[in-house]
Amino acid sequence: MSLTLTQNDLSHVVAADREHVWHHLSQHKHYETVDPRVFVEGKGMKLWDTNGREYLDAVSGGVWTVNVGYGRESIANAVRDQLVKLNYYAGAAGNVPAALFAAKLIEKMPGLSRVYYSNSGSEANEKAYKMVRQIAARHHGGKKWKILYRERDYHGTTIATLATSGQPQRAAQYGPYPDGFVMVPHCLEYRKQWDVENYGERAADAIEEVILREGPDTVGAIVLEPVTAGGGVITPPEGYWRRVQEICRKYEILLHIDEVVCGLGRTGSWFGYQHYDIKPDIVTMAKGVASGYAAISCTVTTEQVFDLFKDAPQDTMSYFRDISTFGGCTAGPVAALENMRIIEEEGLLENTTRMGERMLANLNVLREKHAVIGDVRGKGLFCGAELVADRKTKEPLDERHVQAVVAGCLAQGVIIGATNRSLDGGLNNTLCLSPALIATADDIDQITDAIDNALAKEFV
Ligand code: PMP
Repeated sequence: MSLTLTQNDLSHVVAADREHVWHHLSQHKHYETVDPRVFVEGKGMKLWDTNGREYLDAVSGGVWTVNVGYGRESIANAVRDQLVKLNYYAGAAGNVPAALFAAKLIEKMPGLSRVYYSNSGSEANEKAYKMVRQIAARHHGGKKWKILYRERDYHGTTIATLATSGQPQRAAQYGPYPDGFVMVPHCLEYRKQWDVENYGERAADAIEEVILREGPDTVGAIVLEPVTAGGGVITPPEGYWRRVQEICRKYEILLHIDEVVCGLGRTGSWFGYQHYDIKPDIVTMAKGVASGYAAISCTVTTEQVFDLFKDAPQDTMSYFRDISTFGGCTAGPVAALENMRIIEEEGLLENTTRMGERMLANLNVLREKHAVIGDVRGKGLFCGAELVADRKTKEPLDERHVQAVVAGCLAQGVIIGATNRSLDGGLNNTLCLSPALIATADDIDQITDAIDNALAKEFV
């Protein structure tokens, strides 16, 4: 680590943080007795905090974001050069990196063609919801305004995106919510809801049941994560997506895929949906788009969706009446262009597939060894291990123990994640791993060894 701050500066930083920063997802009572952890520097897969302590980051910046790893000078240089040339212009005009990145992105997304810029995953999803509502208003006589979402999925932190939260603990306390968002059942086979052979098709059929209950002419879109992230790293069962696509076509429902986590390589393809041979109408993305080097998100649509907003110029209500102030920052698309170049030139999709297989295999070995691991799931460098108190009953492990495993890894210098406890009895007790796409075999083994040790210590 090349610290430029003195020990005095660092103590000041920790004091300033404790006094003035309101941390995300944190119970601050905790920091009355414990120093907050403040990171100073990152390089590759490694991080250093204010105590000079080194960590291996197995969650890419806490929330599966830094896909190409820390300390990328080429991204920093590209952003710097662009900022001194033109940092920003928003509204109806475009800018050079926004045009170039859109074209490059669309090369990887056959069938899609238009990119709408904003700053966060929540915002990208809100834009998509607004598009669906405007299409309903203008083209369906006010019908087809409902948006379906799935139990356990997550789409953001704003009020409208929380209205599509399949995780009740996140949405509780912030209502009332707007109307027209309707939940469909999850598709996690480990937590079976139907005792059938073809589970994937059955779980998708449950979506059709909701559509028929609500009335097909009221439903405009469905939003789904390709692999559910925070809801427990849920990989869809065989046959699920094929049937979902059929149902969307049958009832003329737009298929909106939320790639905020999976997008830009996380699962070993450019996008998670590309593993499943489906043709989405809308795709949203954020975290890995610029790996956290700048804030950027995109709502990408087909030309058919885009065309629904084209009309006579004198009709002032026909175009998409929306703006994102910081959607005009050039830092986002210029960082995103360089981020994509790195993924391509360093072969990171291939590395993700290879290392993801290793991570999954290692976790399966741990599952043989530790009865507390009930299920192991994953795609690419995106894996989860669901912890249970009893393998037969699948009773979820108490959150205290789950957090003790996370702390046990941290004590060994490895940062892993865990899904939040759910209000519905704690079904979300899943350890989450999402290291940067540059991870080596040694990194993967270090991560799973840390889990092995932490489990052995916690459950002697
Ligand atoms: N969609 C998914 C699948 C996410 O995991 C997240 C964030 N964890 C979001 C949307 C919201 O993204 P943001 O926090 O950038 O608003």
